[in-house]
Amino acid sequence: MRRTVREIGWAVRGACRGSDPELFFPPAPSVEQESRAKAVCAGCPVLDDCRAYAVRAAEPEGIWGGLTVKERRGLRFPAGWRQRAAG
Ligand code: SF4
Repeated sequence: MRRTVREIGWAVRGACRGSDPELFFPPAPSVEQESRAKAVCAGCPVLDDCRAYAVRAAEPEGIWGGLTVKERRGLRFPAGWRQRAAG
């Protein structure tokens, strides 16, 4: 049987376990929903592991480690990275 990431390792200790999945993966994201999800993440004991995984895996959707997709992309590709890579 294939396990999902939420069933292995650090994920079983996540504060979001048991939360409504639509809070973290909403069909229509909003600032209010993001704030509510981030508030759950703020008290999560595995926030660092979750964030590191999501950035490394380039998770394409949802709130992971207290960050949105755009915020995670910003960690992977900081401002000016194209110029530094070309230079
Ligand atoms: S940091 Fe947020 S998304 Fe990640 S396991 Fe914790 S509560 Fe869930």
